This record gives sequence, structure tokens and C-alpha cells, in this order.
Amino acid sequence: MLEIPLAGTPALTPGRTPNSFHIMLKPSGAICNLDCTYCYFLSKEELYPGSDFRMPLDLLEEYTRQYIEAQKVPEVTFAWQGGEPTLMGLDWFREAVALQQKYKRPGMRIQNALQTNGTLLDDEWCEFFAANDFLVGLSMDGPPELHDKYRVDKGGAPTHARVMRAARLFGEHGVEFNILCTVHAGNDHHPLEVYRYLRDEVGTNFMQFIPIVERDNETGYQEGNRVTDRSVTDRQYGDFLIAIFEEWVRRDVGRVFVQIFDVALAAWTGNRPGLCIFEESCGTALAMEHNGDLYSCDHYVEPDYLLGNMAQHSLLEMAGSETQNQFGDAKRDTLPQYCLDCEVRFVCNGGCPKNRFIETPDGEAGLNYLCAGYRAFFNHVREPMETMARLLAARRAPAEIMSLYRQRDQARLAQPQARVNRNAPCPCGSGRKYKACCGRRRQAMRSVAGRG
Ligand code: SF4
Ligand code: SF4
Repeated sequence: MLEIPLAGTPALTPGRTPNSFHIMLKPSGAICNLDCTYCYFLSKEELYPGSDFRMPLDLLEEYTRQYIEAQKVPEVTFAWQGGEPTLMGLDWFREAVALQQKYKRPGMRIQNALQTNGTLLDDEWCEFFAANDFLVGLSMDGPPELHDKYRVDKGGAPTHARVMRAARLFGEHGVEFNILCTVHAGNDHHPLEVYRYLRDEVGTNFMQFIPIVERDNETGYQEGNRVTDRSVTDRQYGDFLIAIFEEWVRRDVGRVFVQIFDVALAAWTGNRPGLCIFEESCGTALAMEHNGDLYSCDHYVEPDYLLGNMAQHSLLEMAGSETQNQFGDAKRDTLPQYCLDCEVRFVCNGGCPKNRFIETPDGEAGLNYLCAGYRAFFNHVREPMETMARLLAARRAPAEIMSLYRQRDQARLAQPQARVNRNAPCPCGSGRKYKACCGRRRQAMRSVAGRG
């Protein structure tokens, strides 16, 4: 039985039909066994009062059939998210994989990507992930004292040890996984501690650093322009990324993959970022609730962004509707002049619309809350990105940049350095304080050199 969709689903006008689109499926809705204090999704439970928050198998089958049929590309990715999707149980996911096999076209490749807090996983889950080539995203915010600041269970107890156990099980079973690390007031002053922990203790080669920008309002929707004190600040997010980049570019290029560094290199080599928030427009990354309600985006699971329900419209109708086209085009069409004139717009593209709630210096609305951080980071990496792009164009490995950095670092360290006050403007002309710019870099050089 299909659950009754939200009232008031709009009529749809056909728009451009995408060749492919991506849906984040939430089979257990917003339900989670944890109670992370910064989670933007737990409040979405209130959209479905009285629901059991379980996607029924007949709806899953119809979804699988339509989703595969709608993709005009040879590779289809099923993305599972929550809440916590593993609350559906392993048998439900076995059924999901069987349905994919039933409906896939000859020659088509099916992939599964699942985001989890890891706390419910055991050997059986990991055997299943490995056998079915699931790519698993594991949420971890760094070492225990930083992770457990906000990532707690329903009783307020820390969760780090349980997440670490999942990472170990992944290693034992050969499960491919990456770490999704959020950056917030609890860990934003510890970039190297976080990065080195994920790299050396967790042993992951793939990580993404997602800024927590949590609106401070009663609705839990993208409304208002105040953020909670758990949120990262704009400059701190930039500084966090810069500090990690300074270590990465000296020792981990080609070995550790950090999503925003990949995005930047793609832009500097003239390619698309592969991540909606840095695309010129968006609209092809939608979100589906457990009852078949389809929303424009995972960050806009709100009544105003409900496209419809599968009981009323096909997936293709909803993803290719004029409403959804307008949602995606607005990312490009509503950029303030400040962004249009920006020297790093080609890589930033104004960031995600959900964070565009501050004003530009001349008072225009619609600037991204993270702008100062993005601008500092993308300008900071300009020169090394240009170097790596040139290496790639010459069919050489970007990792060669590490030896160039080593030579330059050694030459600099050998030079007697004119003493610069830590709080003075940086001599490089960035406009930032020396201690937050080249002073930080010099410190990182010393620290890396000291680590051999
Ligand atoms: S609103 Fe943001 S997260 Fe959603 S699709 Fe657009 S860029 Fe991506
Ligand atoms: S760095 Fe700031 S001004 Fe530049 S494109 Fe991004 S959000 Fe706009």
C-alpha cells in the first residue's frame, strides 16, 4: 500500500528532460538511531506525522523500474541516505539489489552508494557491501574528542568507537568506503588533527569536508539569515581547507583524494566539477522520501519544493518538469553581481543556493554565507592548481608537484627570513594576517619537514 502523499502536490508543466539524473533515496525517511545535534534532517520527521517511515517493497520496485528506465546513460547509481538507511535491515537491501538486477538493461552498470553513521553495521552487512560493490560513505568528524562533540546517540552517549569499529570491518571485508567529515564549531580549529587522523588512523584515501551551516530558526527549513553557534564561520572553513591543502600538496597528491581539491583541479583543467554545489546550475540531484514524495534536492525537503509523488507522476515527469528546471537554473540566474565579477567564479559558481542568505558588500542579497572562505581557498590554491593542470596537459602526473614543493620549501627554509610580525598583513599581498596566510604555510612546511 502506498502511503498518502503530502497534500497539495502541484500540477506539473513539462520542461527539459535530462539524459540522466540522480535521486537520493531515503527509505527510512528522517529516522535515525543517532541524535547528532547539527543534523538538518531529523526535523523532517514532522512532515510525515504518524508514518512508519519504511518504504514498502512495491514502491521500491516501481521506483527501481522507473529510475533505471529514465536514465539514458549506461551507468546508474542508486544512492541510499537517511536518516539512517541501514535501519531498513539487510533483507530489504538484498531485495533492492535483486530488483536492480531484474530491471537493468543489457550492458548497463548499476552502482550503489550508501551513506551511513556506521553504528549498526556488522560482518554480515560488510559481506553484503563487498559482494555487491557498494561504495559506502561513513560519517566521522575526526578523532574521538572532536567527533563526539556533536555526533551522539539518542541517549547523548558518544559514538566514535562504534564508527571506528565499522571502519575496521570495512577494511577486513574489503568494502570500498570514503569518509564524510563535517566541519563545524567543534572541529574547525583542528584541520590537521582531523586530516591526519582520517588518513593515518582510519586509513581512508577518500574524504570530503562538508561545512555545517545550520540555520537558526523554528522550522528547520532554509529560512532566515542567522546560523547556530555550531556552524562553521566562512573564514574558518577557508582556513580549514587551506591548512589541509598545505599538507596534502606536499605529501599526499595522487594518494589521498579530497573532494574539494578534485573539484578545483577539474575546474583548472577546464572540466566540470562533478559536484552540484560548484556547477553553474543544478537541479539533477533530487531527493525521495520513503512514501514516494520527490523533492527538488536533499537540502530542500520542504513543502514548497515538493514536486509530487510517484503515485501521481512518473519520476521522469517530475525530474524533467518546468518547476525542477527553474529550480536548477536559479542557481545560475540569481547570482549577485559580486559573484559575476569574482575572479574564482569559474570554480565556485556561487556555491549552493541553500547558503546564499547574506548580502554582498554593496548590499545586494543572495551572497553565499561561505563566500569569504571559498574565495580565500580558491585563490590560495590557484598557483598549485595551475601547476598540476600544466602537468596533466603534458601527460605527467600531478603528484610531481610534491617534489617541486619540496625543492621550494628547502630553498625557503635555507634563506634567512626577515622577521614578520604574526599579526601584520601578509607580505604576499593576500590581505590576510601573516599568521593566517604564509605564516601558516611556513609553519606547515616546518611541521612536514619535521615529520620526515
Ligand atoms: S540546491 Fe545545492 S545541494 Fe541542492 S542540487 Fe543545488 S547545488 Fe546541489
Ligand atoms: S567566491 Fe564568493 S564572490 Fe566568488 S563566486 Fe564564490 S560566492 Fe561568489
